[in-house]
Amino acid sequence: MTATRVLVLNSGSSSVKYQLLDMRDSSRLAMGLVERIGEETSRLKHTPLTDGGASRERTEPIADHEAALKAVAEELAEDGLGLDSPELAAIGHRVVHGGQSFTRPTLIDSAVLAEIERLIPVAPLHNPANLTGIRTARALRPDLPQVAVFDTAFHTTMPESAARYAIDVETADAHRIRRYGFHGTSHAYVSRATAELLGKDPSEVNVIVLHLGNGASASAVEGGRCVDTSMGLTPLEGLVMGTRSGDMDPAVIFHLMRVGGMSTDEIDTLLNKKSGLIGLCGDNDMREIRRRIDEGDERAKLAFDIYIHRLKKYIGAYYAVLGRVDAVAFTAGVGENAAPVREAAVAGLEGLGLAVDGDLNAVRGDAPRLISPAGARVAVAVVPTDEELEIAAQTYALIEKNI
Ligand code: AMP
Repeated sequence: MTATRVLVLNSGSSSVKYQLLDMRDSSRLAMGLVERIGEETSRLKHTPLTDGGASRERTEPIADHEAALKAVAEELAEDGLGLDSPELAAIGHRVVHGGQSFTRPTLIDSAVLAEIERLIPVAPLHNPANLTGIRTARALRPDLPQVAVFDTAFHTTMPESAARYAIDVETADAHRIRRYGFHGTSHAYVSRATAELLGKDPSEVNVIVLHLGNGASASAVEGGRCVDTSMGLTPLEGLVMGTRSGDMDPAVIFHLMRVGGMSTDEIDTLLNKKSGLIGLCGDNDMREIRRRIDEGDERAKLAFDIYIHRLKKYIGAYYAVLGRVDAVAFTAGVGENAAPVREAAVAGLEGLGLAVDGDLNAVRGDAPRLISPAGARVAVAVVPTDEELEIAAQTYALIEKNI
């Protein structure tokens, strides 16, 4: 029997998201989520996707990632999809930070683990959780190939002119300070899917990808290669996000320290967790913000306007970086669902060849689709992202090559 299944694991500090896919046809066999690991109120939600099986939930204390993965393995086994199945080909792990070392998906061995660990100082929140997930999975199936797929990898093609901050070079290099970018798996998938939607090879098209979820980032993709992206050393830079500020004068931080008396950790929390849409209006869900705007709420309207203003600036900037743009693609929770955001983001950009057709923009659906008027110079598209499928596909392609 050929092993064609890939388990995709996305391990956060207190959560594990997973999907099991069959790479013969990229179908999904099961998916689930373990939340609040280490708390009394942990929850595992498992959904088998074969034969229309119903979701199952466990609400019991799950002490750590090892217990979480064991519980996931039990749930999968109950559906006949256990980790010991000979059909399981590999486990693909989402790893947030690969620094400059990892430019492509990588088969995990102890040297790779050591390098991911060495990158903890630049990704203190994410890499330790990713490492725990990998170590736990390796302990459960030491014989199985495990692959790390890095969020930063797609952006390693950025030229130095885009990747370097204009600060003292020695200081920057001593602390590995540069623009790495994130959401790379999504930007890779969506830019390729956009080329496909246009009936072209990725090497022929220039695409601006707008990944607008709770975290948000833009990228400029030239002929399939990323040449700029809006997130930087950390995911804090760039667009206005659900709870992150995105770009601002770095001197705001000195001011908050000197005049506001705030500590480094307090400022970190302010900018990452209490800023962006939630800081501006108290809500980070675009549905709620739109509802409040419809009721005449001024704060919600201002938050929306600031969000759109920044988005527009990035569309313009990346237009200039690329010189020629074939498509602008909206993706992730907001990008795929919020028609008013898409409409407002390109409003007034007719001079750049950008426009949205109101009827097409109002259509909802899971398929990639064009929302620009027929014959438009630049295609505007909604392209749902699928990071799990991309991780599974990259994992499977790598192990097939190594067999
Ligand atoms: P993500 O991080 O990609 O899962 O996106 C999550 C965000 O998408 C939420 O915080 C909402 O702001 C937004 N979102 C999800 N569904 C909708 C919708 N139907 N309309 C508008 N925004 C949505």
